Amino acid sequence: MVCVFGDGSGRDLDLSNGGTTVLVEVLTLAVAELAREPWHFRFAMLVATQDQSIMGRGVVGFHLTEIDWGTTGAARGANQRFVLDVIALAAARHRWRELRYDPPHAPAYLAAYAEIVRGFDPATARPDPEVFPGPDGGAVASCARHRVLTAWPHWDGCVFCHRTQGLAGTLNRAPAPGW
Ligand SMILES: [Zn+2]
Repeated sequence: MVCVFGDGSGRDLDLSNGGTTVLVEVLTLAVAELAREPWHFRFAMLVATQDQSIMGRGVVGFHLTEIDWGTTGAARGANQRFVLDVIALAAARHRWRELRYDPPHAPAYLAAYAEIVRGFDPATARPDPEVFPGPDGGAVASCARHRVLTAWPHWDGCVFCHRTQGLAGTLNRAPAPGW
């Protein structure tokens, strides 16, 4: 199975299940550090919902065209820069020690993805609210153990909880406190 992270018009980063897990985990660590504005938390929710432990192996991924980048050129530009900043921080190996594995291919994934994002014109997007959360749908909770934003209220726990502890235990816990 392949997960596709593309621009919606043919420029794609096609990743195996394992590669997808790596990309999502390094982006999760980076977006938790940089999120400040409401839109940032919407993007953080998009990242948090790319969780194969919950959604199923090989069925996550999204296209840049599905993201609501904003209604003005200035907003779209700022949001695109934010995504590039997140990718750049991930590429700087932000908190990679906490992955507890060596991700040798992650720099190549991130470089390829940055190129796709950089070349994308956000004005061409056709946002899909099923993929990208609306203004009230941003990430509002963090995992106290792993210090990243989670997909709550869709489900409890973060990608690291689900990978390292198994899903059964995390769904029985109370929701994380507000961010
Ligand atoms: Zn966690």
